[in-house]
Amino acid sequence: MVKVARVLPDSIADELGIKVGTELISVNGRDLHDFLDWEFLTAEDELLVEARQPGGDEIVYGIQRSEGEQLGVTLEPPTVRRCANRCEFCFIEGLPTGLRRNLYIRDDDYRLSFTYGNFATLSNVKDRDIARILEYRLSPLYVSVHATNWEARKVLLNNPRVPNIVEQLARLADGGIQFHCQMVVVPGLNDGDVLEESLSDLWNLGDAVVSGAVVPVGITQFSHLYTGKPMDAAAAGALLEHVARWSERARRERGANWVYGSDELYLLAERDLPPAEHYGDFSQIENGIGAVASLRSRVAAGLDDLPSMDGRRVGVVTGKAMAALMPELIAKLHTATGATFELIIAENSLFGPTITSAGLLVGADIRRALTDRRDLSIALIPAETINDDGIFLDDVVFAELRGSLPIPVFPSYDFIDVLATEAQAVAA
Ligand code: SF4
Repeated sequence: MVKVARVLPDSIADELGIKVGTELISVNGRDLHDFLDWEFLTAEDELLVEARQPGGDEIVYGIQRSEGEQLGVTLEPPTVRRCANRCEFCFIEGLPTGLRRNLYIRDDDYRLSFTYGNFATLSNVKDRDIARILEYRLSPLYVSVHATNWEARKVLLNNPRVPNIVEQLARLADGGIQFHCQMVVVPGLNDGDVLEESLSDLWNLGDAVVSGAVVPVGITQFSHLYTGKPMDAAAAGALLEHVARWSERARRERGANWVYGSDELYLLAERDLPPAEHYGDFSQIENGIGAVASLRSRVAAGLDDLPSMDGRRVGVVTGKAMAALMPELIAKLHTATGATFELIIAENSLFGPTITSAGLLVGADIRRALTDRRDLSIALIPAETINDDGIFLDDVVFAELRGSLPIPVFPSYDFIDVLATEAQAVAA
């Protein structure tokens, strides 16, 4: 059963009398268990939908619709499948206490992997789930492999009951499912020969593995489970050697790089980041693979659209990770606009100094960085720090923070998005 959260006015559902709170029980005789069933089973144009109204009345709707016509129903959010692992490097285990509750949910859900690109380990996937993935062709899936070596994976996921990932992937691949895979690498656990084995096993799955990512372990000062070593420049450099060897082979034999190091890996290893062409269609950009190259491209492409901002002073708040990469970008912005840009490096007060990513800065960090900065015309902050509800990770509300600061503040993804429009109007 799935429950209706919203009915679009004048839609088929509205005309039928489906209401908020209506329980949808089955479609064409097949029981509904979640949003995936609803999405896939209602793909037909002729439907018999068994439902229970909020008052308890059961009813069967016969629906005939023209091709592409929406039913007009939004479902209540699904119950997320919880993770059965206890990885030492789990970021959620490395969160401080006192944050809002939903930040502590450790999801490991193949459905969200397909729908939103969340990484899942598949360690809680049962035979019936495999059958479902195959029937609905849930492809591509984003899979946290970490290691294909079964014993190593049990240690990494801290779960002796994890299934054999190579067998799982092979079974799904036989049914036409493809994957984007990641290996979060813990020095001494899944680097070296274990990483080589993982890349070899994934390579042998052929076209089923569309891309692989090698990501360094990231720990905070609260990562109480972690007993491994931190990733240093030498370890990061060694990982990039594996990546370089395999991507060279992939280019030769398959025409694309196939495996990528995360941006953070290059920064840790103090190596230059590859250009945008290296990343193909940026299939793992949400995983920090090619995000800097993409930013550089977007800035370069947008410079001509920027207005003159002569005499203005623009503050750019970022984390330490981006500090070395920013001067090159803001020099270009200065040339294009005439404005003076000041880089403001903020330290993460919530996670501690080991977390240097701009996207994880919190409201308190932004406040500290910009309080009393009346000398600036405007300030840009990383847009990734704020969720869809306009709230930072530390529950500070962006609108309230903005109201308390002495200058206009804009969340920005790539400078151009703000400077081309709003900033000019405010600073004029
Ligand atoms: S799979 Fe590991 S890292 Fe992911 S949520 Fe579970 S314990 Fe955390």
